[in-house]
Amino acid sequence: MIHHAESCAGCRNCQLACSLFHEGECNPSLSRVVLEMRGVAMTASFLPECDECARCAAHCPYGAMEASKGGGEMRR
Ligand code: SF4
Ligand code: SF4
Repeated sequence: MIHHAESCAGCRNCQLACSLFHEGECNPSLSRVVLEMRGVAMTASFLPECDECARCAAHCPYGAMEASKGGGEMRR
């Protein structure tokens, strides 16, 4: 997955979508995408358990999350 920090509003919809689908619960702490404020920008990293299902991207209202070509790629 690729996260575009410049477009991210920090709404955490991606985390809610991921945790709901994979863990059956809307809980950012159970998400496979980890969001972190660095200065004025929100950065994202992906746990090894991320299966590139791209549900986080589908639920991002700002187009800040994108499936990476080839899969398995982790970027901030
Ligand atoms: S690609 Fe799927 S598993 Fe990975 S962070 Fe997004 S919703 Fe979660
Ligand atoms: S859903 Fe999109 S805008 Fe909201 S925190 Fe996640 S990447 Fe950022």
